[in-house]
Amino acid sequence: MILHSTNGKSPKVSFAEGVANGIAPDGGLYMPDELPRLPQAFFRNISEMSLNEIAFVVCDTLFGNVLSSAVIKRIVDDAISFPVPLHQLDGNRYTLELFHGPTMTFKDLGARFMAGLLAHLDPGRHLGRKIIVATGDDGGAAVADAFRATPGAQVFVLYPAGDLSEAQISRFATLHHVKAIEVAGSFDDCQTLVKEVLRDAASGAARNFTSGNSINLARELPAIIYFFQAYSCAVRAAGRNAKIVISVPCGNLGTLAAGLMSKMMGLPVRRFLAANNSNDVFVEYLKTGGLKPRNALVTMARAMDVGNPSNIARIIDMYNGDLQLLRNDVEGYAYTDEEIAETMREAFIRHTMPVSPQDAMALRAMNRHLAPDETGVALMGAHPSKFATTLKAVIGVSPAAPLSEDFPAKHSRIMHIPPTPGALSRVLAMK
Ligand SMILES: *Cc1c(COP(=O)(O)O)cnc(C)c1O
Repeated sequence: MILHSTNGKSPKVSFAEGVANGIAPDGGLYMPDELPRLPQAFFRNISEMSLNEIAFVVCDTLFGNVLSSAVIKRIVDDAISFPVPLHQLDGNRYTLELFHGPTMTFKDLGARFMAGLLAHLDPGRHLGRKIIVATGDDGGAAVADAFRATPGAQVFVLYPAGDLSEAQISRFATLHHVKAIEVAGSFDDCQTLVKEVLRDAASGAARNFTSGNSINLARELPAIIYFFQAYSCAVRAAGRNAKIVISVPCGNLGTLAAGLMSKMMGLPVRRFLAANNSNDVFVEYLKTGGLKPRNALVTMARAMDVGNPSNIARIIDMYNGDLQLLRNDVEGYAYTDEEIAETMREAFIRHTMPVSPQDAMALRAMNRHLAPDETGVALMGAHPSKFATTLKAVIGVSPAAPLSEDFPAKHSRIMHIPPTPGALSRVLAMK
């Protein structure tokens, strides 16, 4: 697999090198030059295959020239130790639950995969020892958890001051291999800092660091598996001729970009619905072709409050900037807090289903834009118990967490920095 930068001004690199760099020297994101297509026979059989079997075939196709099949099988089976089940809401509408991993978000799959890939790509050097991740929600916890078992791994989690609850911070800040860095700024500030520091990695304090965000292909590409699983389950439930539409909650657009990649690999999905909150940079892009990143608005779906979504660069790259082609594959919708709350109440009344504010948007887009002859699958990215306070306020019920792990309430290793690359470099250089 050969990678190019979405900015087109850096040399092409191997997959291992791209993963080690995290981001290209020209500031672009890495993309595979070519996405391999899966054979027709695979799609004929996919509805009879298990999640792990599907993941193996998809990953062997993607990474077969980078790693041996035996290693790929190990990584797949280590990473996917939880179910990704489909649920029927009614008639032609379904949800796919991506939140049964250890930290109860869809991010577990990519983070666990990334840990496996790093361990096997370059065991001799220091790749995978220092991971830096910007988070406005639970991405930090997922990455921290995924690297728990990697010997010598250190995870640096940057998060915006004031955005995360104590419980969320505890999920990473109390772990021994984690340094928590609270930034006096927004999620976008955290993300920009990480990109700047990684860009200077060759010379600066961030040498040997790689990104744990979806800007890193080792975390991004595994999300493709979810779409093959969605398709497999939907065909099993609704029949081989089902016209499948997948509704995706969008923030940094990593998940949606993975969905579009799955389509390029041959997955016969009819189209995607991109569900956004009031941070509608991508919806605007689809409408006008203009790309106007801006400061994120604070909404009740905090995990999607991104004003400058990184993976837009990958989406534009994949479609060569052809807006019409992109519009054939994706429709974008943006929802207000009132609409999110209304959908949460609707889901509870109609289906007794507590749903997180993020996932409510994916439901809403599906409910409103599915044609009668189509089969809809809304991706559910976070366990509703993670948003118990919001749910209590909106539907009057706070769902319980299926497993409760005790994290010590005190965290000692939090560092506080202003949103400047200099401050971050100093913290990273500290022993
Ligand atoms: C990270 C996250 C999102 C945004 O996902 P992207 O792939 O970055 O678009 C949405 N919902 C939840 C719950 C998340 O944690």
